[in-house]
Amino acid sequence: MAKAEGPLSPTDLHELVADGTVDTVLVAITDMQGRLQGKRCTARFFLDEVVPNATEGCSYLLGVDVEMVNPPGYEISSWERGHGDFVLRPDLGTLRLVPWHPGTAMVLADVEWHDGTPVDQSPRQILRNQLDRLAAHGLTAFAATELEFILLDNSYEDAWRRGYRDLTPANQYNIDYSVLGTSRVEPLLRRIRNEMTGAGMYIESAKGECNLGQHEITVRYADALAACDNHVIYKNGTKEIAAQEGRSITYMAKYDEREGNSCHVHVSLRSEDGDAVLTGDGDHGFSPLMEHFLAGQLACLRELTYFHAQNINSYKRFVPGSFAPTAIGWGMDNRTCALRVVGHGDGLRVENRAPGGDANPYLAVAALLAAGLHGIEQELPLEPAITGNAYASDKPTLPTTLAEAATLLDRSTIARHAFGDAVIDHYLNAATVELTSFNAAVTDWERVRGFERL
Ligand code: GLU
Ligand code: MG
Repeated sequence: MAKAEGPLSPTDLHELVADGTVDTVLVAITDMQGRLQGKRCTARFFLDEVVPNATEGCSYLLGVDVEMVNPPGYEISSWERGHGDFVLRPDLGTLRLVPWHPGTAMVLADVEWHDGTPVDQSPRQILRNQLDRLAAHGLTAFAATELEFILLDNSYEDAWRRGYRDLTPANQYNIDYSVLGTSRVEPLLRRIRNEMTGAGMYIESAKGECNLGQHEITVRYADALAACDNHVIYKNGTKEIAAQEGRSITYMAKYDEREGNSCHVHVSLRSEDGDAVLTGDGDHGFSPLMEHFLAGQLACLRELTYFHAQNINSYKRFVPGSFAPTAIGWGMDNRTCALRVVGHGDGLRVENRAPGGDANPYLAVAALLAAGLHGIEQELPLEPAITGNAYASDKPTLPTTLAEAATLLDRSTIARHAFGDAVIDHYLNAATVELTSFNAAVTDWERVRGFERL
């Protein structure tokens, strides 16, 4: 009997194709914006050709903006280079069923050049490279990414036609932890929980959040690469499920002037043998490694914020008193800090509260690991915890604009050491493209301020 849900081995897939359960295999990479891009392959073609030989896609996929415009300035993607293909090599460890599409399985791919060398600018490769650096220290990483979203009763088509104005949220008031609030949209939440479980994820729970129609469904921690793979499949899948229900979901960091959508990222480290290494006999039950790891987060967060917040809109979320962070400090279970330490014993971990729902998880986790490695390699001492309201502290703050974050990244010797110039220059170009596009746009805000009164 072939498997009906969850992760699939190639043998499972062969059986499911043979008995007619699966006829389509999605092959996808994650682009700079954190979106899945790829192809729907027939199952026959996937098994005959893509598994043994991989497939290909246009190299502009890692050189476009959100509108699929391909601007100049990218070393790996240009008219001069002819916009040729790169290789999409399926990682068969990610193969799974997609319960919300009939007869469909999915696999994520790594991105390679034709000679088999990795495309270093690919987000999944960027994370792989930091995991390799960690492995050189005898360490592995676990992660969980906690996405919040806002559910609207409008379809995506209706929302587009309305210019995203006057949309109807799925809940009309603050439903933070409200059982009634989640009950009101339970058919959709249940579909998401159960169908993501069917896609091989360990879903923990769903809860209401503060903004109107805002919810959070948590996926259990996993090894860092698998957690990010789950994140991109979940995020794409929840939009698809909402669309099937005639509704829409947004992960914008700041959809309106109320609470934003976060993507808190939890990271912990283990030895290669699986032993917890952050817990120890020091203050707060920390090991020296935990102190260095956390000190690295504090030292690098400002200059690496770009990798947690890639969009103009991301920075609108960093508002005092909104549960989104401003101050770069750490505290034990202190939600006013950018870095909140939670758990104990094997579960002791760092929560970085800076990323929003728009974050690219591979880049965010890679940045956290790079920061932690900096602290470990430099044996940085840990400053005292913040016990009160970090919003009112005199700590350094997160950059407040994309332009500031890009400047900080450009000057970061730590970033260039950790990721390499080719990666940093690639993403700085992405930031410049976004800033140039925004600076050329005339916004609603300007029209309201200026049309009559100026
Ligand atoms: N929605 C808040 C934010 O944008 C986070 C709320 C929470 O702590 O769950 O950061
Ligand atoms: Mg939350």
